[in-house]
Amino acid sequence: MSVEIVDLCVNCWACVDVCPSDAISASNTHMLVNAKKCTECEGDYADPQCASICPIESAILDSGGFAINPPGSLTGIPPETLAEAMNEIQAR
Ligand code: SF4
Ligand code: SF4
Repeated sequence: MSVEIVDLCVNCWACVDVCPSDAISASNTHMLVNAKKCTECEGDYADPQCASICPIESAILDSGGFAINPPGSLTGIPPETLAEAMNEIQAR
């Protein structure tokens, strides 16, 4: 049982200090979670603290492989609205 940090991570280090299990460390590319240490914060907090502080949508996946902060959850911009805006910008 562990969360996973994927390559969308921008290495802001915000999650490192809030992890109660000292499970997050830097690598050459992005932060990594030690699956043997991660408890998904159970017993310490109601929510995974790394995902609660992470500013990047979809950078942290739960143990089922789903983004804990999916697209639109932090920006409030529905993914389809963002896609439409990006298409419009690229068409200029
Ligand atoms: S879910 Fe909790 S224990 Fe696991 S890496 Fe994130 S902050 Fe650490
Ligand atoms: S808070 Fe998110 S973006 Fe920042 S280092 Fe952790 S996983 Fe990466």
